[in-house]
Amino acid sequence: MAKKKVQKKKATKAKKKSSPSDISLSLGRNVWPAERDVLFRPDRLKYVRKLLKPEGCVFCRAASEPPSFETLCVHQTEHSMIVLNKFPYNSGHLLILPRRHVGDLLALSKEEYADLSELIREAMSALQEFYQPGGMNVGLNHGAAAGAGIPQHLHYHLIPRWAGDLNFFPLIAETKVVVETLEQTWDRLRSRFQGEARRTK
Ligand SMILES: [Zn+2]
Repeated sequence: MAKKKVQKKKATKAKKKSSPSDISLSLGRNVWPAERDVLFRPDRLKYVRKLLKPEGCVFCRAASEPPSFETLCVHQTEHSMIVLNKFPYNSGHLLILPRRHVGDLLALSKEEYADLSELIREAMSALQEFYQPGGMNVGLNHGAAAGAGIPQHLHYHLIPRWAGDLNFFPLIAETKVVVETLEQTWDRLRSRFQGEARRTK
């Protein structure tokens, strides 16, 4: 009898070790799904760290100024714009989004939605021309529960893909190696859209 009691005591002690509060603490660490380090060049690490501290809505800021590398915006139409993803999965990872601060696709006017949809196709055409990918991921994480990094300002992801481009490095180091710098991507796409604007005028 006495032996049984001791065993029971040990069991309660073990249970206490992994209390629910410990579990929620460890889960709370990575709540920002789109945020992760991107190693372009080791000497740029300081710059990458700076990018991890956005102030206000970065997309609204990009919408309110002319396209620049500072805001990563490469092109603007009347209602929509193309912005480079600061944390790309691959070279040429773009975000296509409305200029208006809106997180709900159903809240867009017909004009805004049509403009946005057309810009997705224009961005696809630009990526096809520059990167000749084997395929592309075109997707929208609608709302925080669906994994949107900035759920208040909706944005489509456009990611060029090549067969076999899934490497194991992000899994072991939480860092993705991207072959092109953000500056190079911005320069290429900006000059293309500027050229297009000149052609259509
Ligand atoms: Zn916004």
